[in-house]
Order: sequence, then C-alpha cells, then structure tokens
Amino acid sequence: MARTVLVTGGNRGIGLAIAQSFAKQGDRVAVTHRSGDAPEGLFGVRCDVTDSASVDAAFAAVEAELGPVEVLVANAGITDDTLLMRMSEEQFTGVLDTNLTGAFRCAKRASSKMLRAKWGRMIFISSVIGLYGGAGQVNYAASKAGLVGVARSITRELGSRNITANVVAPGFIDTEMTAKLPEERRTEYRKVIPAGRFAAPDEVAGVVTWLASDAAGYISGAVIPVDGGLGMGH
Ligand code: NDP
Repeated sequence: MARTVLVTGGNRGIGLAIAQSFAKQGDRVAVTHRSGDAPEGLFGVRCDVTDSASVDAAFAAVEAELGPVEVLVANAGITDDTLLMRMSEEQFTGVLDTNLTGAFRCAKRASSKMLRAKWGRMIFISSVIGLYGGAGQVNYAASKAGLVGVARSITRELGSRNITANVVAPGFIDTEMTAKLPEERRTEYRKVIPAGRFAAPDEVAGVVTWLASDAAGYISGAVIPVDGGLGMGH
C-alpha cells in the first residue's frame, strides 16, 4: 500500500537515498530542502527544522499535495565538532536545536494526523556516536542520544494507536558530512570498524524503508545499528 512519506534533509546524502528508496517502491515522497532545488522526481518543500513555523508550513504543503504524512523520517542533521573545553554554548545549543529539537518539532507536527489515521511510522536518524560517544562531539552525541528518549517516549504514548517510533543509528556513511573528516581520522575509524569500510547511503535506506513497512509493525522503541559492527554493545 502506497504511503505518504516526508524525509527531512532529503535533498542530499542519507536523506536523499532514503527518499529515493521510498519513491522506488511506489510511495508518495516529499523531501525538505533549505536552499537550492528539490531533487528531480521528488516533491520538495522548503523547511528549516530550527523554525517551527517553517516546519508547520512544510507539513501543510505536503498535506495539500500528497495527503497527511504517514511516515516521518527525521533525518536533517548537522555537526559542529570541537573539544569540550573549546565548545561554545552556541555550538552546543545550535546542534541540539537542529538534530534533537528539530526532530521533536517534526514529530509533534506529524503526530496529530497519525493519531487521526490510527497509523503512523516515525523513524529518527541518530548515529552510532549517540551511544558510543565521540571525542569532540559532546553536542552531536547528546543530540543523537536524545533521539532514543524521544522515540521511546513516543512509543509509550502512541504505541496503542498503531504508531511506531524507532531509531536508526548509522555508523560511518560516505556523504558530505564524513567527507569533511581529515583523512587520518577516516583511516583510524576504518581500522576499528569490523566491516573495515564506510557504508553507502543506500545501506541505511533499506533499513528505514523496512521499518516503515507492515512487516515491521511490531517493532517500536528500538535502536537499530547500521554501522558495520562498530557500536556493538553500546
Ligand atoms: P549531509 O550533511 O550530507 O546532509 C544533511 C542534511 O540535513 C541536508 O539535507 C541538510 O540540508 C539538512 N539540514 C541540516 N540542517 C537543517 C535544518 N536546520 N533544517 C532543515 N534541514 C537541515 O548529512 P548526511 O546525509 O551524512 O546525514 C544525514 C543524517 O544522518 C544526519 O542526521 C546525520 O547526523 C546522520 N548520520 C550521518 C552519518 C554519516 O556517516 N554520514 C553517520 C550517522 C548519522 P541542506 O542541504 O539544506 O544543508
């Protein structure tokens, strides 16, 4: 059955791969983008997840064009890495505002329509760093760990209404975000990843589409790693 899907930050990287994967299976897919054009073949809405009016307007545009959002993929995210002693309060709250509060804004906006429909899927794109930690990533790790609490609380609140909320925790995926890492750090990470490599965005997308499927209807509040074994036990 075709669903209406909204992927935040779906104009590039992991979000784009997720959006394309839903589109390929015949779903009605919308992506948010902050600047530039929407990717070809997908319905694009401008949205900055740090602004609740912008989130509301984006949902309204999707509802008018494709119907109420049945599957929300909260994927938009940023890094602003630096060591704790050098991290400004703005660097901390800025990352939290996008990665954690941004996901909250979208989940809250999506929830009323999902409740009415008595069906919904929320998938939060976290990171292995959320539970593993990362030097220089106090802000990012806190934001990504916070998504686990968000998904688990939504599961307790809305689970009886056929609404699931899950977390996908990717490891190192080849996108612009990881391209920013210095080569020596990329090499170091490769050595500790049991799979011995970074993954392609498609390898995350397959898990997300599966979580939104009927086959995964009894999975909620779960944290699913897609990390080549990096985070085992965390
Ligand atoms: P990219 O940097 O390639 O893309 C980030 C996306 O988020 C872009 O579409 C960007 O939009 C969007 N975005 C950022 N800030 C906002 C905002 N305020 N409002 C709306 N959209 C915003 O990242 P990835 O594809 O690598 O990452 C996607 C998600 O996966 C992120 O949440 C990231 O933390 C997570 N992740 C990534 C990993 C990796 O190895 N790459 C590993 C683990 C998790 P725009 O183009 O307009 O800037």
